[in-house]
Amino acid sequence: MKKTFVKNLNNKFPSKDITIDDIKTKLLKICKKKTRRVLIKNNIYFDKKNIPIIAGPNGIESPELLEKIFEFLTKCNIKLIRCHTFKPLTFPYRSKDYCDTGLEGLTWIDDIKKRFNDVAVVAEITEIKYLDRLCQTADILQIGSRNMQNLELLVEVAKTKKPIILKRHFGASLRDWFGAAEHILLEGNENLILCERGVVTPHTHRVTSRFMLDVQAIVAANELTYFPVISDPSHASFWAPWVEKLALSSVAAGCDGLIIETHPNPKKSIVDPLQPLSFSQFRQLVKKVKKIAKAIDRKII
Ligand code: PEP
Ligand code: MN
Repeated sequence: MKKTFVKNLNNKFPSKDITIDDIKTKLLKICKKKTRRVLIKNNIYFDKKNIPIIAGPNGIESPELLEKIFEFLTKCNIKLIRCHTFKPLTFPYRSKDYCDTGLEGLTWIDDIKKRFNDVAVVAEITEIKYLDRLCQTADILQIGSRNMQNLELLVEVAKTKKPIILKRHFGASLRDWFGAAEHILLEGNENLILCERGVVTPHTHRVTSRFMLDVQAIVAANELTYFPVISDPSHASFWAPWVEKLALSSVAAGCDGLIIETHPNPKKSIVDPLQPLSFSQFRQLVKKVKKIAKAIDRKII
């Protein structure tokens, strides 16, 4: 890994939160105050006006699911689709149904993209060995929360110059998250999107909710960086009935994009069936977030 020397690097008083010293000597690129626009393709970009919604199922389970998702989301004018075929799961065990579709899933995505050519897809990268293949299919590469500090992966993904979503680990401080982002930026890839996806806290107010959406992190991150900061209320709450309100509060708090899980038959979702919205719940959410966005002079795309 490349070593970069800076003057006056001060490690005498490291703290858990970001200090003025950190900003001056360690967060040289992420904290630069210059408005960023991250272009994905055509007219799809993340900036301080647009709030893109990235939607789709937890994982690409089958070509049939992909077909239903693309049909539905393009009718809703959604331009960014979650197309994860590699899923890092908490436990190593799988059943026949509960399984990644991996490289085969990518071929289904390639096929459907030929018919829906304005749409951009987001896919998660879990291992460097799949990077070249994923670059052929994905318009945005997602680095999941569990890999936030997998520094070798960050650097290799950054080198591709593709847009990257860097999810915050559920136990990471803003300082750790920004430090990880700095590794990407130092490779000369400024197509960076940061994503808050919930943190571990002593209480989450429902037994099935594993994480708590840190709305304050959206506000705090936006105070320090001009790179887009998006919110994933689906992974934070793990509970579909809360997703709409958390999405509304994220937009009100200044997020620059949303990730929302949706599935034609949520109960049948192979991974995390409590979390995706049905298509009608998704439509409702879009209608409501548009109103909040309008109130703060922004636009859902
Ligand atoms: C995901 O977006 O599918 C995902 C696994 O998210 P996270 O890394 O935030 O758990
Ligand atoms: Mn997931």
